[in-house]
Amino acid sequence: MAQVQLKAVSKSYIPGALIINNASITVNDGEFMVLVGPSGSGKSTLLRMIAGLETITTGDILIEGKVVNKLHPKDRDIAMVFQDYALYPHMSVYDNMAFSLKSKNVSSSIIKKRVLEAAEILDLTPLLMRKPKALSGGQRQRVALGRAIVRQPKVFLFDEPLSNLDAKLRTQMRLELKRLHAFLKATIIYVTHDQTEAMTLGDKITVLNHGVIQQMNTPLNIYNHPTNQFVASFLGSPQINFFDSTIISQNHHLYISNNAWEIDMPEKFRSNFNNLQSPTKVMIGVRPEDIFEFDDGALKRPQFCFNATVDVVETLGAEVLCSLKSDVGPIQMRISDKKQVVSYSANINKTKRLTFDLDQMLMFDPETGNNLFSTATPC
Ligand code: ADP
Ligand code: MG
Repeated sequence: MAQVQLKAVSKSYIPGALIINNASITVNDGEFMVLVGPSGSGKSTLLRMIAGLETITTGDILIEGKVVNKLHPKDRDIAMVFQDYALYPHMSVYDNMAFSLKSKNVSSSIIKKRVLEAAEILDLTPLLMRKPKALSGGQRQRVALGRAIVRQPKVFLFDEPLSNLDAKLRTQMRLELKRLHAFLKATIIYVTHDQTEAMTLGDKITVLNHGVIQQMNTPLNIYNHPTNQFVASFLGSPQINFFDSTIISQNHHLYISNNAWEIDMPEKFRSNFNNLQSPTKVMIGVRPEDIFEFDDGALKRPQFCFNATVDVVETLGAEVLCSLKSDVGPIQMRISDKKQVVSYSANINKTKRLTFDLDQMLMFDPETGNNLFSTATPC
């Protein structure tokens, strides 16, 4: 297994139009790195450049410390698994898995050993003699994985390998991939546009937008300390709420104000606004799980509340997703309290008093979108 490094890698098909813009990433030996971003952000291009299927315009790609920019794909010791599994339809599962080793003239006893081992890991042993058309989508996906595993490559590259599967199979394959990674201890670079896959699979996540790396960190660090509004809204479902607000400093009193509420600046943010030009525009970000109903009787009483009218209630079983209308715009709230979940749909069109956890509040510069207090330690 191996470390993969991208150093200031850029790619353009037409001069001046950068598809990948100055990307630097380090994927450590044995690490599961998820590359996530919207469709068209350049994920496949980046992966194909690592595989050697696409040239790079500037920069360097290193595997195990060696520059591989000019190395042919077959000499990079990388296995790639695509969204369409590209199995050979006329070959059995066994032959599909054995194919790349056969073409490298590996001895048939080693081929047999590796294919049987991979089949065992992936639960494919009873299916080895079947043709792909006699397999389900999930089984085909596992054969594609098996084909990569038997090669014992230094690095695995996955390009949206689960997106053709239905929701249940996707969840199941996610677990299997996690287990497989723990077992193989392989270096994996995994591309997806699905934020749930990114959060659940990655040791680390790299977020890409318009070919520019936005942030690279652990899933939780990115979720809790997104570097900008794009990252904050891309990870998390339902999306984070944004509230257009203003910071006002008046007679040594610092507060945040908008159409719906006025709150004292929480202590932990205060020192950052010593030289504030008052008023200053700010974008407040609050995740749906940090908004809750104001409770008069609560011991740790929140200091503020605001009105919002329940618009749509989606009951998911374990939780409720509630959309509300307020003077500060639409609000998404996630409710997981069992008692409330059961009866929440009775609240449609009712006005609620809401509050949110000030410690979890995020603040962004509305001009640049940057987090004003991003505290995630780079890793
Ligand atoms: P993603 O995998 O994130 O959806 P891609 O890497 O496939 O994104 O594409 C990124 C951008 O590069 C897109 O705008 C796409 O149109 C463009 N692109 C991809 N391949 C080519 C190509 N061969 N020639 C020109 N433009 C391309
Ligand atoms: Mg793609």
